[in-house]
Amino acid sequence: MPILNDIKEILTGLSITFRHIFRKPVTVQFPEERRAMPERFRGSIVLTRDPDGAERCVACYLCSGACPVDCISMAAAEGENGLRYAAWFRINFSRCILCGMCAEACPTLAIQMSPEMFHCKRQVIDMVYEKEDLLIDGTGKDPNYNFYRHAGTGVVQPRGHGAGEQAPADPRSLLP
Ligand code: SF4
Ligand code: SF4
Repeated sequence: MPILNDIKEILTGLSITFRHIFRKPVTVQFPEERRAMPERFRGSIVLTRDPDGAERCVACYLCSGACPVDCISMAAAEGENGLRYAAWFRINFSRCILCGMCAEACPTLAIQMSPEMFHCKRQVIDMVYEKEDLLIDGTGKDPNYNFYRHAGTGVVQPRGHGAGEQAPADPRSLLP
C-alpha cells in the first residue's frame, strides 16, 4: 500500500536524523583549532637537509621544469668542494597550486610537501618565499636519504684516464 511505503520512508529518514543528533560533532573551529593532517597531505613546501645537515638541493632545475605554473626559480652555484647548490631559490606561492609535481621530480628529495596548512598573506608579494624561508633544519619524510651516497660526487679524473678506459675520439681525425 502506498501509504505504508510513505510512512516507512518517513520513519527511515527520522531514524537517520535521530542517529546524527546524538553523534559527537566533527566541526573543527579553525583557525583556533587545527587538525593534524595526514603525512601525505600536500601542504606548504619546504627545502630539506640530508642526514649530515647539508642542503639537499643541487639546483638541477628539475622541480622548476616540472612545475606546471612556473612558480619556481633559482640560480645554481658550485662550492669549493665541487658540489652544486642553489645560490638562491624562490617559490611564488601566489601561483602554486600545491600539485606536488616538484616534489615528485626532485632526485635528491630536497623539495618536499609538508603536512602543514598553508599560511595566507594579505599582500601578494609576501607569498614569494626565498630560500631562507623554505630551508628547514630537518630531513623531512626520508631521514636517511643522501643523494651523494647514491650518485657519487663527480668525475675526479680527466676522460680517458681511468683503468681500461680509451681516450675520447678526436672527431677531426675522422674527417676524410
Ligand atoms: S606544488 Fe606544483 S605548482 Fe606548487 S611549486 Fe610544486 S610543481 Fe609548482
Ligand atoms: S629542489 Fe630538487 S629538483 Fe629542485 S633544483 Fe633542488 S635538487 Fe633539483
